[in-house]
Amino acid sequence: MFSEIKNSLKDLYLSDPRPWLIGFSGGKDSTMVASLIFEVLLEIPRDQRIKPISVLCTDTRVEIPAIVEMIEGTLAKMQKCSSSEGLGLDVNLLRPPPEQSFWVNIIGRGYPPPNRVFRWCTQRLKIDPVTAFVERTMKGGKWSEAILHLGARRSESAERARNLGNRETKNNLRRHVDMPNVWINNPIEYVSTEEVWAYLLQRPNPWGGDNRQLYRVYSNASGGECPLVVDESTPSCGNSRFGCWTCTVVERDKASEGLLESGDERMEHLIDFRNTLIEFRNPENGWRDTRRMNGAEADGPLTIKGRRELLKRLLLLQEETGMELVSDEELLLIQKIWKTARDPDDGRGVARIIKKIKGIHMLDLKEVSRLRELQEEVAQEKGICPDTLRRLLAKVEEYSESHKAMGLPDDLLNILKDAANDATQVPQEV
Ligand code: SF4
Repeated sequence: MFSEIKNSLKDLYLSDPRPWLIGFSGGKDSTMVASLIFEVLLEIPRDQRIKPISVLCTDTRVEIPAIVEMIEGTLAKMQKCSSSEGLGLDVNLLRPPPEQSFWVNIIGRGYPPPNRVFRWCTQRLKIDPVTAFVERTMKGGKWSEAILHLGARRSESAERARNLGNRETKNNLRRHVDMPNVWINNPIEYVSTEEVWAYLLQRPNPWGGDNRQLYRVYSNASGGECPLVVDESTPSCGNSRFGCWTCTVVERDKASEGLLESGDERMEHLIDFRNTLIEFRNPENGWRDTRRMNGAEADGPLTIKGRRELLKRLLLLQEETGMELVSDEELLLIQKIWKTARDPDDGRGVARIIKKIKGIHMLDLKEVSRLRELQEEVAQEKGICPDTLRRLLAKVEEYSESHKAMGLPDDLLNILKDAANDATQVPQEV
């Protein structure tokens, strides 16, 4: 069966000129699809590997830390394998822009934490970044159509089987609901869960390493996965286990609980904060306005008082865990939005909370934020990863403080070599 799937992928690659996209969530199904495609590419002679291929993965900025770490490691290996084997593939970790982030929507705009009825997050955090990437690439005139490979399987659920069965196919491809230029291929549509694991555990990944870590995460998280969501017809990722640590769509976050049980202590505080979000969503607890934004008498957004309290608790959580949970850009946006809220803030509310919790002035924050923007711009211009640029700058600063330059070139070179180990960070000039 695996050979049959690979043969049909190979035929499609060689007979159809359209570029490919691979939806990758880090879960077992999309890992299997990506593996099969890598295997196929490696079997095609080098001179025939001419198709552009983009791996797409979303990071909602509130993903479970252990899952993000695993996914980032896999993406870096994929990119490295593609560069060394000449597969013509690029990996893309797509994030929502800060103005649409989870915290800017909840703490800034006052959206209630999502539930099954008002699940506003999937579109903003997962679907829109993918659509924006595809549109950007299409508009740039690079591609007119593309084929997107997904890991949807009929045996996942009755709903998934119905969805796949209802959609018309043309040469085994289904037209994307919202992006008519994109055609969807589900190469493992008829593969069972047991067969997926059999495939994943019996061989190493073509990009290096194996899937034992993935299997461990699954057994710790005990549940299904959050697929790469590409349109509204995809079943709720809130049913899954590999979602955001903030997810209030699921009754219980079994993934976070499982990871905590298996020793990931970071999850303890995050699980508590998720319960805080549920408390704030419940109108009976007094954190919600009694009017909607259009003035209708019904449960409305979080009040300004509620948003301030939530920001305070989030910054405290950040201090407790030492993890960056909300960025400076998001804090500046929240400040801006509060000024236009019902019962508006005086424009200094966020600054006061930051001063109280972190002991720094918002002005400093603005400077930090502008500096980061400049660094991103320069990094992009030079074709270098922003983190590598920051490391280089910090090293120069360290030397300038000691008024010595001896050893600096070697140290800078070591940073570049270290970055070059990760193919995604290789500066073009090196
Ligand atoms: S995992 Fe939950 S919070 Fe995250 S996008 Fe999906 S439904 Fe929304």
